[in-house]
Amino acid sequence: EISVFWFRRDLRLEDNVGLFAALSGPFPVLPIFIFDPAILDKLENKKDARVEFIRQALSDLKSEIQKRGGDLLILHDNPLAAFKSLAQQYQIKQIITNHDYENYAIHRDSAINLWAKDLGIAFHSFKDQVIFEKNEVLSGQNTPYTVFTPYSRKWKEKFANTEWRQFESENLANYANGSFEMPSLSELGFQPTGIKFPSLNFSDDLIQQYTLRRDFPGLDATSHVSVHLRFGTISIRNLVKRALGKSETWLNELIWRDFYFNITFHFPHISQGIAFRKEYDRMNWRNNEQEFVAWKSGQTGYPIVDAGMRELNQTGFMHNRVRMIVASFLIKHLLIDWRWGEAYFAEKLLDFDFSANNGGWQWAAGSGCDAAPYFRVFNPYLQTQKFDKDLSYIRKWVPEFQELHYPKPIVDHEFARKRVLAAYKEALG
Ligand code: FAD
Repeated sequence: EISVFWFRRDLRLEDNVGLFAALSGPFPVLPIFIFDPAILDKLENKKDARVEFIRQALSDLKSEIQKRGGDLLILHDNPLAAFKSLAQQYQIKQIITNHDYENYAIHRDSAINLWAKDLGIAFHSFKDQVIFEKNEVLSGQNTPYTVFTPYSRKWKEKFANTEWRQFESENLANYANGSFEMPSLSELGFQPTGIKFPSLNFSDDLIQQYTLRRDFPGLDATSHVSVHLRFGTISIRNLVKRALGKSETWLNELIWRDFYFNITFHFPHISQGIAFRKEYDRMNWRNNEQEFVAWKSGQTGYPIVDAGMRELNQTGFMHNRVRMIVASFLIKHLLIDWRWGEAYFAEKLLDFDFSANNGGWQWAAGSGCDAAPYFRVFNPYLQTQKFDKDLSYIRKWVPEFQELHYPKPIVDHEFARKRVLAAYKEALG
C-alpha cells in the first residue's frame, strides 16, 4: 500500500505543500514525474532548453530523494495511461499533487480524479504554486478583481491576516523503496542546446535596490527567479518572505504573478485565444509574414527592439522593460496580431508561463485586464533614452547598430503611430 506523490510545477523538496501532506500520511510515498507526450510533441524545436532544465531539476530531486531512502520514478507517457499501469504494479491508496490552474491541466486532473474514484483511490490536490488562488481574493461584491491595485490591496490585507506555516517536507523521509532509471534527453526526443540557466543567487542588496534599478536592462538588476518559479524549484512563500519589508515594488511583482493566475482561472475564454476584452478581436491586423520574421530575428532596424529579440533568441530570457517594448512594437508598429508574439514568446522563453505571458501581451495590446490604454504607443527611441541611455544593453546584443550594414527602420515611427491609432479607432468605434 502506497501513496503516489505526483510532481509537476513544484520540482523541489523544500516547502512543498502536497509533498508534505503525502509524507505525513500513513503510507510510504512513491514520488513520480510524468513527461507528457501531448506537451512535448507540441514543441516543434527539438532543442528546447526547458526540457533540459526540467531534466536537471529532476536529477537533483532524484538524488535528494535517494539520500532519504527512496527514488523518483520518471515516466514518459500519457498521464492517465501512466496511472493505469502504475495501479497494476502497486496498491495505490492515494494520489497527491499540487494544483495547476491551466486549462489543459484542469481537464487532465479531473479525468485522473474520476478514474481514481472508480477504483477507490483518493485524489488530493493542494495549493502550492501561488499565495492566494481561486476565490480567496474577491472584491466586496464577491467578484474576481480585474484591476491590479485593488487586488493587491486586498491581497496584502489578507496576507497580513493569515497565519503562515513552513512545510518542512525536506525533513520527512517516508518514501517507498525503489530504484529507477532516468530517461535520457534523446529518449525524450530532444537534443542539447548549450543554453545556460540563470542560477538562484539574488541577494538582499538586489531586492533593496530593485525599485531604483529594475527598469534598466543594461544593469541586469532583476532577480531572474522567473524560471525557478515556473518549474517550482523555489517556493513562492519563501520569496514573499524575502520581499517583506525589503521591497514593496518587488513584492508587487510577485503579486502580479498571482493576479494573472487568478485571471486565467476566472476567465477561461483567454485560454481559447480570445481577447480578455472581446471587442478588441475586431482589430484588422496587417499580419505581414516578412515583417514578423524581421521582428523575430531582431532585424527591424530599431536597436532596442532588435537587442531584446536577440537576447531572447540567444538566452531564453528578456528583460521586462524590453518585453514591453518589443511587444508594443510588434502590435502597434507592425500591426501584427498579439497572439503571434505570444506564441513566439511561448516557444522561446525559459520562464514561459501561460498566465503571465498572456497577461503581458494583452497588457501591451490594450485588450487585457488593467491594460495600457490602446492609444499609448511606446516610442522606441524615447524608451532607449530613458532606460538605456548609455546604450550598454543595445551594444551588448546589437554590436553592429551604428554600422552601415545595420538595417534601416522597418517602418517610420510617426507613420506607424498614426496607422495603428486609426486601426484601433476603426475596430472599437
Ligand atoms: P523580477 O523583476 O525579479 O520579478 C520577480 C518575479 O515577479 C518574476 O520572476 C515573476 O515571477 C514576477 N513578475 C514580475 N513581473 C511580472 C509581470 N509583469 N507579470 C507577472 N509576474 C511578474 N513572466 C513570466 O514569468 N513568464 C512569462 O511567460 C512572461 N511573459 C511576459 C510577456 C510580456 C509581453 C511581458 C511584458 C511580460 C512577461 N512576463 C512573463 C513578466 C516579466 O517580464 C517576467 O516575469 C520578468 O521579466 C522575469 O524576470 P525576473 O525573474 O528577473 O523578474
